[in-house]
Amino acid sequence: MGRIAQELDEIRRELPEGTRLVAVSKFHPTEAVREAYEAGQRIFGESHAQELDAKRKELPADIEWHFIGHLQTNKVKYIAPYVSMIHAVDSFKLLQEINKRAAENNRHIPCLLELHVAEEVTKYGFTTEACDRMLAAGEWQQLVNAPIAGIMCMASNTDDEQRIREDFKKAHDFFNYAKETYFKNDERFCERSYGMTHDYRIALKEQPTLVRIGTKIFGERVY
Ligand SMILES: *Cc1c(COP(=O)(O)O)cnc(C)c1O
Repeated sequence: MGRIAQELDEIRRELPEGTRLVAVSKFHPTEAVREAYEAGQRIFGESHAQELDAKRKELPADIEWHFIGHLQTNKVKYIAPYVSMIHAVDSFKLLQEINKRAAENNRHIPCLLELHVAEEVTKYGFTTEACDRMLAAGEWQQLVNAPIAGIMCMASNTDDEQRIREDFKKAHDFFNYAKETYFKNDERFCERSYGMTHDYRIALKEQPTLVRIGTKIFGERVY
């Protein structure tokens, strides 16, 4: 078994039922993606539209591509024809653009709202207050081609496990609140995307449905 297959195997044994793995392949070559694919992996995460576009053309069509990074509105049109999920929606404007481009392609693209829960000031995402205001305004309900399918977050970049745990817990509490308040009868709102290489084991305590792991599977990224 190759190293990539070995890492995938190890992660799969750790993930509980109900948590899917997004293998984050950004900055890694198509050969690495193919190796993971051959080891049975089908969901891959990328964070640059151009890179994703180029890779997708060389790889099997049954790969489910998730866009996980910060997405500029002017890039949505490139990925709208095929992307399976967009994880880091951080403004209503972006949600509107995704809806427009999804509709042009006769598609529905599930979107996750990115919550800013980390201590760093530079991270993207809605504060829980801003997210609540956006949901309360209700306009998103008209964006039928960009259904809100859940939340995503990145924890603080620290070795302080307690702090990381609190970040994920804050996100999870907001998910439960939003579910109860805005999505009670909407089964599509069910996804919680949290956890990366250095903190997915902590994230698992807060029951994510998706973890996004790159480095552990593919090694360090070369920029
Ligand atoms: C790159 C990236 C990941 C994966 O990070 P690793 O530390 O390599 O596991 C997860 N989520 C997002 C949003 C990313 O940009």
